[in-house]
Amino acid sequence: MRGIQILGAGECGLPLALRLRHSGVPVTLVTDRDAAAVLSGSVTSTQVKFQPTLELESRAGLGVWRSSAPRIQGIRFNLVIDRNLVSGWAGRFSEPAQSVDQRTVFAHWLAEFAAVGGSLEIAELSVPQLDRRAAEFDLTVVSRASRDLAACFPADASWSVPTEPMRRLAVLYLDGVEPDPDGLGTYIALPGHGEIISYPGLTGPPGQERRCEILLFEGVPDRGLDAFANTVPAERLPRAAHLLQWYLPAALADRYRNAELTDGGATLVGAVGPTMREPIGTLPSGALVLGGGDVVCRMDPGGAQGANSAAHCAAQYSAAILGNPTGPFDRAWMTSAAQPWLTAIAHPAARWTLAVLDPPTAVRELMLAAQDDTTLADAFAETFVRPANMVGFAAAASAGYPEPDAHVETAPH
Ligand SMILES: Cc1cc2nc3c(=O)[nH]c(=O)nc-3n(C[C@H](O)[C@H](O)[C@H](O)COP(=O)(O)OP(=O)(O)OC[C@H]3O[C@@H](n4cnc5c(N)ncnc54)[C@H](O)[C@@H]3O)c2cc1C
Repeated sequence: MRGIQILGAGECGLPLALRLRHSGVPVTLVTDRDAAAVLSGSVTSTQVKFQPTLELESRAGLGVWRSSAPRIQGIRFNLVIDRNLVSGWAGRFSEPAQSVDQRTVFAHWLAEFAAVGGSLEIAELSVPQLDRRAAEFDLTVVSRASRDLAACFPADASWSVPTEPMRRLAVLYLDGVEPDPDGLGTYIALPGHGEIISYPGLTGPPGQERRCEILLFEGVPDRGLDAFANTVPAERLPRAAHLLQWYLPAALADRYRNAELTDGGATLVGAVGPTMREPIGTLPSGALVLGGGDVVCRMDPGGAQGANSAAHCAAQYSAAILGNPTGPFDRAWMTSAAQPWLTAIAHPAARWTLAVLDPPTAVRELMLAAQDDTTLADAFAETFVRPANMVGFAAAASAGYPEPDAHVETAPH
């Protein structure tokens, strides 16, 4: 075997590379930054991962932080209008979620990749360069695409997603935040403005990890929470503190009053345009490449799905590659490798994200009704864990309350 080339060392590319190396497959990983650059850079996500993803990583020997990362037991949902708490409930996940700074995770996994004999190249390949290199490998998996490379993957015509980002984002990793008394994550919906989301996580270089609070502003474009454009990092904490005081009742804002940034790279500002693409890309020579993670299905982080979906993609692709050791990795194989991930994970996650950011009436009613019904609150929280259940959840709005579905286990062990 000539080996597998993987572009992008993130939530999809790294676990895929490690899984393949652990089975002895030659892997070349091409990415733009080494571990030192990742660690000295800025945060890139809020990356909460739910139990099916954590299990998947643990079974592959990648769940290094399972015992050290804070456990996020569920969601404390608050509906706030004009600084008044209109509705509030707490829903528990069936198993805790966790969030470990991607800088920590990627740096650790990059070191492990080197330790297990992987070949790492730091480069930003143009499409013609990638095209030339693709012929040297049995298969190229693209988990990071520049605009030109993304254009090699056709849009998925069966999807209609907003053409602009649904939210503008600001992330802050914080010390000094009072922990939630029940270990829950906070989800504050501010109709017309967006959401403020916060939960405990782990940050710091591998070996020196420590607890922090991760705060995410999801601002509806051009409304009040969309207040971080053109800010430099030093301006972001004061601005966040101001927004918390301005939009939230004191009972919700006060736990952040002593907050400080964890480090110089503790903030991120931007927006994610939803994108749904076909999983098979065609390079100018006609060579086919397999897309994974955000390249194929990219969503606003409000649904907390992208990192989870990318991890499942890595597991599915690795199983498909290992199940086809002599190849060929042709279009038919690529289709069969991608379809289970798309059907069971990526597409339900995208639908769920769209529904959370723009809830249909039925889902909105369920959010309100959950205040008086713990079972419903737990079921609602669980849809973040298993978005494929949402279809039944929303349909049940008029008929009664859904029970969480049976475990949706699609990725291989
Ligand atoms: C603010 C925010 C909050 C989020 N919160 C959550 C959450 O709570 N839960 C969740 O599940 N998802 C969340 N996500 C989404 C999640 O982070 C992504 O969906 C996930 O990281 C995608 O994985 P990936 O492997 O496709 O891409 P990435 O993880 O982004 O990896 C891509 C890799 O490619 C590398 N790279 C960049 N440029 C190049 C280049 N030119 N050539 C080669 N390599 C390159 C990058 O360094 C990176 O290592 C969030 C995203 C954002 C922006």
